[in-house]
Amino acid sequence: MYIGSIDQGTTSTRFIIFDKQGQIISLAQKEHAQLYPQPGWVEHNPDEIWCNTKEVIQKALKQANLTPKDLVAVGITNQRETTVMWNRYTGKPYYNALVWQDTRTSALVTELSAEAGPDRFREQTGLPLATYFSSLKIKWLLKNVATLEKDALKGEVLFGTMDTYLLWHLTGGMKGGLHLTDVTNASRTQLMDLRTLQWDEGLLETFGIPRSILPKIRSSSEVYATAKGVLEGVPLAGILGDQQAALVGQTCFRPGEAKNTYGTGCFMLLNTGDSLTQSTHGLVTTVAYQLGNQPVQYALEGSVAIAGALVQWLRDNLGLIEKSSDIETLARTVEDNGGCYFVPAFSGLYAPYWRSDARGVVAGLTRFVTKGHLGRAALEATAFQTLEILEAMEKDAGVRLSELRVDGGMTVNELLMQFQSDLLNVPVVRPTMIETTALGAAYAAGLAVGYWKDLDDLRQNWGIEKTWKPQMPRAKRNAMYRSWRKAVRRSFGWEE
Ligand code: ADP
Repeated sequence: MYIGSIDQGTTSTRFIIFDKQGQIISLAQKEHAQLYPQPGWVEHNPDEIWCNTKEVIQKALKQANLTPKDLVAVGITNQRETTVMWNRYTGKPYYNALVWQDTRTSALVTELSAEAGPDRFREQTGLPLATYFSSLKIKWLLKNVATLEKDALKGEVLFGTMDTYLLWHLTGGMKGGLHLTDVTNASRTQLMDLRTLQWDEGLLETFGIPRSILPKIRSSSEVYATAKGVLEGVPLAGILGDQQAALVGQTCFRPGEAKNTYGTGCFMLLNTGDSLTQSTHGLVTTVAYQLGNQPVQYALEGSVAIAGALVQWLRDNLGLIEKSSDIETLARTVEDNGGCYFVPAFSGLYAPYWRSDARGVVAGLTRFVTKGHLGRAALEATAFQTLEILEAMEKDAGVRLSELRVDGGMTVNELLMQFQSDLLNVPVVRPTMIETTALGAAYAAGLAVGYWKDLDDLRQNWGIEKTWKPQMPRAKRNAMYRSWRKAVRRSFGWEE
């Protein structure tokens, strides 16, 4: 028997079937369209994502000659914050999903920050006011989509992040689909109180969001329901936001353990156990996971909006490379960045700056700079952003990290991994399994049905594949970091 995992990411949807050792038995993946109707707007078509989900489930099962009966449970992990609203009677979305990177709510950020600053909800939600979280996306949709607010007041509208939307469909949709989410996803809406783990009436009132559209909040690991349709009869037993899933997949279960995931964006999470640590250095506080009726565990998170997405941008918008992996060859045509620094503030800057007024800049250009330097600067941008997050985390938590566990699509890039280790001056460790996001959701589901006994059972599956050790002289590191920070300052105040 096996465990299935739906990984609904920003760029694609995967279905992965794992065995007890956490090895991949079968994997199917499909990209969905990224819609950019205006500068700063990023949307996905929810119908397309639901269709892709069904398709990858069927494909992965077929490839391995399996049926849903061979799966003891399925877990779901998803791009977080991305907001979809649909009609409970027709199943029809009112609008495309507003993706976490979308910045159309930046005027609302300014407006709501005017009274009491951007941190007015931090104490309760762990999050600053930003375009990133679901609260303002819901508010925007209610105000700007015809009939949505009216229908919401009639009780016809359901809100969900992608986990909720998919679970509703997988459990019957219009014919009795379940409307629920888990604590980790709920903690990214900016509508849940981090201590009570419930939707907060005061926040709902401030954002003008009717209670009736919100899903029930449940733990990250329990049997929610039995699936209908494409996964007929399989228990749906785990939900985790993608970054929290990677933390679980990397088995960072002890306070002080951290991972960094390099995908579309880049996200470092540090497990802080059952203590809720408020950041004073620009990180966010979030729910790490809750396994059944055990106490909820918290994390400090450093979120970077654009990491691998910059590689995609060089590919799709500039045509500098043909496929993402070509970036390494391009970057290796030169010795260093040639003095060029690329701050990819396409969606403003998230942690530790939280500047929705920032926009991208390339600094330090001279006639000497080639496309090789630009490619290198693009990769280095991810490493510099990670360094800033790590520094903030060490200050907030009062610990020194002895190594960094990494995962995600960009970690195949050896040049980036070496530069990351050089810049952080700590070893960077890549585990044998880098599909940790999907694995984390499989773990959550597997624990709920007893496929895995306990956390030690999971730890046994973790192993090191490769370690990069720092090699860069301190003076060079410091000089580069100074230039990076200068470039960052140039990105501020672009969007007033
Ligand atoms: P997500 O789960 O956010 O969709 P993934 O973990 O699948 O992301 O990683 C995909 C990202 O990694 C893309 O943005 C892609 O550009 C980037 N990427 C893939 N291969 C490489 C590579 N060899 N070097 C650098 N970036 C890469």
